[in-house]
Amino acid sequence: MPLPVAHSLASGIIYSSADADGSLFTWRRLLLAMMIANAPDLDFLPGLLIGDPNRFHHGPTHSLAAVLIVAGIAACGAALGARWPLRGKIEARAVAGTAIMVGALWFSHILLDLFTEDLFGPFGVPLLWPFSDRYFLFYPWFPNVARYSGPSGPLAFFLSLLNWHNAWAATAEILTLTPVLALSIWWRRRRHSGTRETTASYAATSSLDLSSSDSD
Ligand SMILES: [Zn+2]
Repeated sequence: MPLPVAHSLASGIIYSSADADGSLFTWRRLLLAMMIANAPDLDFLPGLLIGDPNRFHHGPTHSLAAVLIVAGIAACGAALGARWPLRGKIEARAVAGTAIMVGALWFSHILLDLFTEDLFGPFGVPLLWPFSDRYFLFYPWFPNVARYSGPSGPLAFFLSLLNWHNAWAATAEILTLTPVLALSIWWRRRRHSGTRETTASYAATSSLDLSSSDSD
């Protein structure tokens, strides 16, 4: 697993790219994107509760099936009105757009994990769960996150994350993904140039759009 730094930068890249169809930029929507992109690592929580943080990490939340399930839940939410505010008012497009955005954010997490060094077996992520127990790791581009591997309390576990190796890991993540983020922001602005951001009224009806006051 990379640090939340990498997952948050990836969420910014997807938000800038996929949400570049004329919808308003909002910091709160970006924050929501970051939370979704980091959410697969919530599988640390059950382990933290029983004093063994790594116990359930890299489980089913790190699979393609999870991407489909989460995208399906997002589609249902969109059909009920909780849409990711995309330009246009065609119902099917809003539902599909929300599912694709949420699915892409979740998938970005798995993708980065597939390219991160892993020192705790089984190595990688169970990409094809529940159809296969095999774990996948494509290439260890990002450094591993150094942390307690054995049983520990939540405080000791979080303190174990504060070390020079992880500072280097964060630097490597920033150096790799910031240029891509800059490119996606440039592309978003290019798409916006010459067109007004026209979805304010549509966005205002969406419960996923938490604010429309802070724009580019
Ligand atoms: Zn992860």
